[in-house]
Amino acid sequence: MAIQRTFSIIKPDATRRNLTGAINAKFEAAGLRIVAQKRIQLTLAQAEAFYAVHSERPFFGELTEFMASAPIVAQILEGEDAIRKNREVMGATNPAEAEEGTIRKEFALSIGENSVHGSDAPETAAVEMAFFFSGLEIAG
Ligand code: ATP
Ligand code: MG
Repeated sequence: MAIQRTFSIIKPDATRRNLTGAINAKFEAAGLRIVAQKRIQLTLAQAEAFYAVHSERPFFGELTEFMASAPIVAQILEGEDAIRKNREVMGATNPAEAEEGTIRKEFALSIGENSVHGSDAPETAAVEMAFFFSGLEIAG
């Protein structure tokens, strides 16, 4: 597997609790390099656009209001097999099902307020990186 990039978000529940550094330490310990990063607060419309694939899901309103409720940290992570590795470090969506040592096991509050987002495939990673970053903002 070659060097790959993936898109990551540190979500509002984690930025509120000042966990950006603790979460970044997990990424770096796993061999993921943070090649772009910015802290921003999404508008509701931006959160709805980012999560448009989930627009029919019953939790869409809750999810998008949460994502716009406080700052997020948008990131690009780079490394060997980065998409899979990041999902592994994040742990299961529901923290009750997440493995010991994962970000969601340690920090997530609930299935909705689960501290991090990570792209799930090369196609979604490309779209999500382009949604948040221009080429000039990425320094590998
Ligand atoms: P993400 O896309 O954020 O990395 P994921 O791929 O593990 O998470 P998805 O199924 O894509 O999970 O769901 C997107 C997000 O929607 C979840 O991370 C979570 O914040 C929220 N979510 C998912 N299921 C529920 C639920 N049943 N109730 C409330 N929120 C949910
Ligand atoms: Mg997902």
